[in-house]
Amino acid sequence: MKLPRAAVIGSGFGGLALAVRLQAAGIDTTLIEKRDKPGGRAYVYEDAGYKFDGGPTIITAPHCIEELFTAAGREMSDYAELLPVMPFYRLYWEDGFSFDYSNDLESINEQIAGKSPADIDGYARFLRYAEDVFQEGYVKLAHVPFLDFWSMIRVAPQLIRLKSYRNVYSIISTFIKDPHLRQVFSFHPLLVGGNPFSSSSIYTLIHMLERKWGVFFVRGGTGALVDALVRLFRELGGEVRLGSPVEKIHTANGRVSGLTTADGWTADFDALASNADVVHTYGTLLSDEPQARRRYAQLLRRRYSMSLFVVYFGVRRRHTQLAHHDILFGPRYRELLDDIFTHGQLADDFSLYLHAPTLTDPSVAPADCEAFYVLSPVPHLGKARLDWSVEGPRYRDRILDYLERLYIPNLSADLETVRILTPDGFAEDLNSHLGSAFSLEPILTQSAWFRVHNRDQRIGGLYFAGAGTHPGAGVPGVVNSAKATAGLMIPDLLS
Ligand SMILES: Cc1cc2nc3c(=O)[nH]c(=O)nc-3n(C[C@H](O)[C@H](O)[C@H](O)COP(=O)(O)OP(=O)(O)OC[C@H]3O[C@@H](n4cnc5c(N)ncnc54)[C@H](O)[C@@H]3O)c2cc1C
Repeated sequence: MKLPRAAVIGSGFGGLALAVRLQAAGIDTTLIEKRDKPGGRAYVYEDAGYKFDGGPTIITAPHCIEELFTAAGREMSDYAELLPVMPFYRLYWEDGFSFDYSNDLESINEQIAGKSPADIDGYARFLRYAEDVFQEGYVKLAHVPFLDFWSMIRVAPQLIRLKSYRNVYSIISTFIKDPHLRQVFSFHPLLVGGNPFSSSSIYTLIHMLERKWGVFFVRGGTGALVDALVRLFRELGGEVRLGSPVEKIHTANGRVSGLTTADGWTADFDALASNADVVHTYGTLLSDEPQARRRYAQLLRRRYSMSLFVVYFGVRRRHTQLAHHDILFGPRYRELLDDIFTHGQLADDFSLYLHAPTLTDPSVAPADCEAFYVLSPVPHLGKARLDWSVEGPRYRDRILDYLERLYIPNLSADLETVRILTPDGFAEDLNSHLGSAFSLEPILTQSAWFRVHNRDQRIGGLYFAGAGTHPGAGVPGVVNSAKATAGLMIPDLLS
């Protein structure tokens, strides 16, 4: 019997997870990637003996990934090793306050007591709230596709009970009074492209997800996990085509029928899933399809998450006073986020995430050296039309000067290698609409049924997996989206 054939366009974590699930279920699957290496936002840059993970570094909910190996009858431990990171994050402020954030309740309570004793009780109440949100929002719904409006109506009572119409910062403020501690417990939406002042309080579930299962780093870097998934997929018989941008998805009689890549390769498929940017998929790959043009026009009216400016740099010295994941808050919080999300301003101050993986795994840098990346959330290209070829090097220097003054002494003298990724890079390398780093902004009116559906209702055989679909960005988000999509594709193709 001829096996059904499926294509997955894009090898981000969502595409890889979907490709593995389809191939493991007996569907002849081809994974097609534009770039020369797989991983999407988890692309790896290698400079002068340093290995830099391009994007995701904080691995949470490890069971989502482990499930991919078990679905294929394998053990993840034979492919990749996850190393626990503690503290999860060290948060710093310019006034000298710092906070080690983790799931160690005793340490958290001690630090809260040292800053604002009255907030200990508030934190306990917040944990009860977040547990409730986590059960409803993650355990029950993260891997379930929202295909029709009724699926949204069915969860509406829970969403109302959990006050999902309120934003993360405002809900945190009902529990915690101290301004620094409000930042400690409200920054999480930024990890998935959301503004804590407009993302639904449902995103407090990230706090719980980290508390329950911890924060991990992959030995060898996140890229080692990408390689592990590619190896698994190939061992199952899947085909990977790299350096092969899809140019057109073909349709016939209201169904997808195949695709053509930029190098002229054309193939027929029974079904096709896009892990590429959702606007790019409807607007460019399906531009000849009237149903797709309608969808594209709708997507242009949506709100997109911020972009990121990332500096990857290697230094010939170790800096053990830092933690693996450092969040460096600048002087402003709400106002800075307003500049990024609303006013489209590249501000003079910044709040940064500094990644220092050598502390957990020295293999990512030459001996006695340290690999870093630092990222700054910046407005996407639709909000601020900056010439990043000019602004990029200037902004890089401002950030490195700031790090040298406050966190990494002698940085400029010790610098061995440096490269940057700007919003233009997100747009050009990844085909990301407006250079957004996380696709559709995670606000309530763009969540669940309001996100791009895992299966298109009008174009037969067309599916999606990745940050633009339910449940959204972040590695657990896109891996769960792939689970939801596989749950639709496998019966559609095999029954
Ligand atoms: C700098 C940064 C840091 C992050 N840190 C974390 C973190 O620590 N933890 C976490 O959980 N999440 C993190 N995230 C978010 C997370 O990385 C993403 O949400 C997730 O990896 C996106 O996966 P995806 O499946 O949507 O695919 P993507 O990674 O977006 O990949 C899509 C792929 O499609 C390909 N493609 C596009 N167009 C075509 C085409 N026409 N033909 C063929 N291929 C095409 C692209 O080249 C790309 O490889 C971070 C994101 C960034 C940018």
